Amino acid sequence: MENTGNEIINGIRLLLDGLNGPVVVVPHSNPDGDAIGAAFGLARVLKNAGFAVSIVSPNDYPTFLSWLEGDIEIVNFLKSRSVAESRLRASRLMFCVDFNEIDRVDEMKDALAAYSGKKVLIDHHPFPKDFCDWMVSEPTYSSTAELVYDVVDALGLGQFWDKQAAEAIYTGIMTDTGSFSHNTSRPNLYRVLTGLMTFGIDTEAVHERVYHNFSAHRLQLLGYCLAEKLVVLPEFRTAYISITRDELKKYNFVPGDTEGFVNYPLSINNIVFSALFIEKDGWVKASFRSKGSFPANAFSEAHFGGGGHLNAAGGEAKLTLMETLEKFTQLLPDYLHQLESAN
Ligand code: 5GP
Ligand code: MN
Repeated sequence: MENTGNEIINGIRLLLDGLNGPVVVVPHSNPDGDAIGAAFGLARVLKNAGFAVSIVSPNDYPTFLSWLEGDIEIVNFLKSRSVAESRLRASRLMFCVDFNEIDRVDEMKDALAAYSGKKVLIDHHPFPKDFCDWMVSEPTYSSTAELVYDVVDALGLGQFWDKQAAEAIYTGIMTDTGSFSHNTSRPNLYRVLTGLMTFGIDTEAVHERVYHNFSAHRLQLLGYCLAEKLVVLPEFRTAYISITRDELKKYNFVPGDTEGFVNYPLSINNIVFSALFIEKDGWVKASFRSKGSFPANAFSEAHFGGGGHLNAAGGEAKLTLMETLEKFTQLLPDYLHQLESAN
């Protein structure tokens, strides 16, 4: 860990040593494989170490990750607000995983701001905001899950790993690297994977559960998007897909179904910037992916109130879907030079 010295690790260790009461682990809103994998991995290690622990998620998480639950409680803040609030009230320590600013928990933001216990951040997004008591922020890591592995060991909790915790961490790494296709150049990743493999995890089974676990509707929605909704703008080395609410409904959309759609346009020869726009109730969710030096996060922050990593970012627009697409395409000429020079 480059940014996390002994002072931070000792600070967190002291919090754990002096703790009297449960721990909560909080992923970001619309949690993905990394947020959920990191949360379950950390929660399970803490449970094995004797702490009472639950996960409080700002909203629902994809069903293709539900096999990670085991006997760890996960409370959905949107659906079971009073249970979630009582878990937050009863706990004295919170781990915030896989997000770098309090806005990323959406409706749970006020509850986090009012939290009376101590908060510890474990995250790999660049430019974290100061909303926690201790911050483990390591943007060179492939995933928060990879980082959790090193934090657990640094805290002296390495003896509490087990197969289920290792599988959760592996899932986070696998999903955030696109099945080991990006952010996989640091040797530390392979050291962590080697450590995880000692717990006998079945990597093929994990891959099956995560990637071969969709409904037929999801595959048909993907096919429809690629055949009918893909717009390619070779002059801007950009391609995008948009999906309306009606289209989602037609294909029986459930959370997680559009996960990964935004990556497909990048497989087109010479395309370096890809976007996915999904119509919500009165707003539009935007996802951006890029290759090389083109900064998806800066683009999203400047125009879609979001952020993320250099090559993977998200944001939103309080516009209609049509207006959002117009805004997006009108912005591209301003980025022509950066798009042309990205490699
Ligand atoms: P996705 O497109 O998969 O939703 O998100 C891609 C990346 O951007 C993830 O690392 C995610 O944490 C980040 N991200 C997604 N939406 C937002 C947003 O609204 N604000 C910020 N700051 N980051 C986002
Ligand atoms: Mn992540």
